[in-house]
Amino acid sequence: MVPRLENFIAGAFQKSQHSRFVPVVEPATGQIYASVPESSTADLKLAIDAAHAAQPGFGKLAPAQRAALLRRLADAIDADSANLAVIESKDCGKTITQASQIEIPRAAANFRYFAAMAESFGSESHAHPDALNVTLRPPLGTVACISPWNLPLYLLSWKIAPALACGNAVIAKPSEVTPASAHRFAELAQGILPPGVLNILHGSGAGIGKALVRHADVKAVSFTGSTLTGAAIAEDCAASFKKVSLELGGKNPMLIFADAGFDGAVQAALRAAFSNQGQICLCASRILVERSIYRRFVEAFVEGAKKIRVGDPSHPDTQFGALVSSAHLQKVTDAIAVAETEGGRKLLGGSRIYLEGRCADGFFLAPTVFDQLPQSAQTNQQEIFGPVVTLQAFDNDAQALLMANDTRYGLAASVYTNDLGRAQRLAQGLQMGMVWINCWMHRDLRTPFGGVKASGLGREGGTDAMRFFSDCKNISFGGWE
Ligand code: NAD
Repeated sequence: MVPRLENFIAGAFQKSQHSRFVPVVEPATGQIYASVPESSTADLKLAIDAAHAAQPGFGKLAPAQRAALLRRLADAIDADSANLAVIESKDCGKTITQASQIEIPRAAANFRYFAAMAESFGSESHAHPDALNVTLRPPLGTVACISPWNLPLYLLSWKIAPALACGNAVIAKPSEVTPASAHRFAELAQGILPPGVLNILHGSGAGIGKALVRHADVKAVSFTGSTLTGAAIAEDCAASFKKVSLELGGKNPMLIFADAGFDGAVQAALRAAFSNQGQICLCASRILVERSIYRRFVEAFVEGAKKIRVGDPSHPDTQFGALVSSAHLQKVTDAIAVAETEGGRKLLGGSRIYLEGRCADGFFLAPTVFDQLPQSAQTNQQEIFGPVVTLQAFDNDAQALLMANDTRYGLAASVYTNDLGRAQRLAQGLQMGMVWINCWMHRDLRTPFGGVKASGLGREGGTDAMRFFSDCKNISFGGWE
């Protein structure tokens, strides 16, 4: 009998009204080690009722009181960070280093940042000779936060924190593939948040996820996940005119020019391609390199990729862990099979890795590099979301820009160059929500985060998140002199 991670509703862990469960697998070993309920509409009703009972009081707290609660959540995450990192690494197959040095600290930072936002987010006023306009930003009520499996607590907290900062009650649905850190977070929040302010329902997207999105009393949906799911959620929200924020897939290019610092660009490209086994929405899956340095770059990049230490993610020396599930391993393997039919050259990897000992049945795949694939190849067009990267040569700025923009996605791009004018021109021409010049994945929580085209709708972060999670009412006081 494996442990059950129960729903968290009205401040308590509650057995689901449904008897079906989803197994939770450790990707590094392939073994089931827990299960979560496939929550039912009866569970959803309990969560909705709890949120409705809690929100009015919570929404009326002074900003400093809400901020204090968020800071206590951040402190609780910090105090439990070593344990949370182990939970996250085990649940996702990600390296303990990625979990402990990047993701768990960021989850705490999310709460601290939005605590400060709760205190500083202001209403606007516009004085007119005839009237004074005051624009209020009240909470929406009950909101849904739906997150994916790749950065579980990091992304869940990125949604929950601003939602709470604005005074909403939250019903969160973590990915059924990686629910463990959300469960631990609920344990931490239990002694801090008033009951019903945060509710966590587990289960599949098609089941409880869809029911949550469609529920009439859910006023907004903040979703991060695939473009396909995003489209379905947009449709479900449209029917009831719900606010919706969609952070979706990407096929991010990194453009490397001959005038860039060579070694730094190679290291950045390796990090951008293979961090978290290529399972970060911001990973660069297309590396475009100026032709005059192309051969040298390919050699250095492949040599660097060969040195990445693949292994047991729980080991501190491991740089590259397992893919998140056997289904995802299959999806990425299928994409590699397609790449092999598209006329390119496989420079590295392409196959599953079988480790010895504890991880013998784990979902490991070698870092994989292709080049000479045409721009129109499926491998250059569709998101794979794994450790598969393509290298392409370009001859000039215009061609680089054309290639970079030539997919349905528009999440993020990086440009490596020492030519300031070129950097400025490209930054303006790139059809992306985020552009990094001589860096990759530099994140500042104040900046708008999100994509254009099939990469999403709306922005998270900073005041964008606060505006998303609040309503807007303008009041005009007439007779203003
Ligand atoms: P997914 O779309 O399969 O699932 C994401 C979440 O949505 C899960 O919790 C799932 O249970 C739920 N869900 C699925 N169908 C639903 C429905 N019809 N209604 C409501 N909820 C539903 O995505 P995934 O496989 O978990 O994550 C990988 C994807 O996420 C990749 O495409 C990646 O690019 C994207 N992603 C984007 C960002 C970003 O910020 N743009 C960040 C991380 C991941």
